[in-house]
Amino acid sequence: MSERIINIAIDGPSGAGKSTLAKMIANERGYIYVDTGAMYRSIGLYMVRRSVDLTNVKAVIAELGGITISLEYDETGTQRVILCGEDVSELIRTPEISTAASAVSVIPEVRAFLLDTQRSLAKTHSVVMDGRDIGTVILPDADVKIFLTASPEGRAKRRLLELRKKGIETTLDEVLADMKARDERDRTRETAPAVAAEDAILFDNSQYNKEEMLARALEIIDTKLAK
Ligand code: C5P
Repeated sequence: MSERIINIAIDGPSGAGKSTLAKMIANERGYIYVDTGAMYRSIGLYMVRRSVDLTNVKAVIAELGGITISLEYDETGTQRVILCGEDVSELIRTPEISTAASAVSVIPEVRAFLLDTQRSLAKTHSVVMDGRDIGTVILPDADVKIFLTASPEGRAKRRLLELRKKGIETTLDEVLADMKARDERDRTRETAPAVAAEDAILFDNSQYNKEEMLARALEIIDTKLAK
């Protein structure tokens, strides 16, 4: 009998710890980690490089035909994002590209463009996929859906540390303001708004360290899978 394919969806606002948690679960269980935000960021980067006006929906759509995005995994299992043959995994992690990703992600054609790639990965592999609409749109039949949240200040602090590590100088206030604007746009957009699926388990991560977060998530997953 072939091994059962398991799909785990992790959604939630930026900086809640989704990617940290998703990577740890994938590592623990031997599943593939799929960072869908990286795909939106790659489209954002492509548009910024070509000086496309991101508020001009037609112009953004017209550029989509030139884009290929694929995910590769290096020897440590780390996801690399390949945009038109170039590894852009690090280049997409700037505040400018965060904003560009959020701007292009409101466009239904952009979302449709990425949908097949995301779904087909989950069809052929056990995955932990993180994003904003995984439990609601991409994998509505996921075995486990977690909606991860944390306090805005906690999320902004986490983002600030990540950015500083990458040598990007910014302030907590700036990060908090960017994050709030991005979350608001993600939550209120018409197509695939970033909201919890009805059958998602809400998980407030404010009080946990990494190990506790993983332990709690594995508990949620195992309880769900045993049903
Ligand atoms: O998760 P990350 O911060 O890398 O995502 C960047 C942006 O991409 C988000 O602010 C959101 O606008 C968009 N996104 C999305 N749907 C997803 C993943 C990310 O709209 N599944």
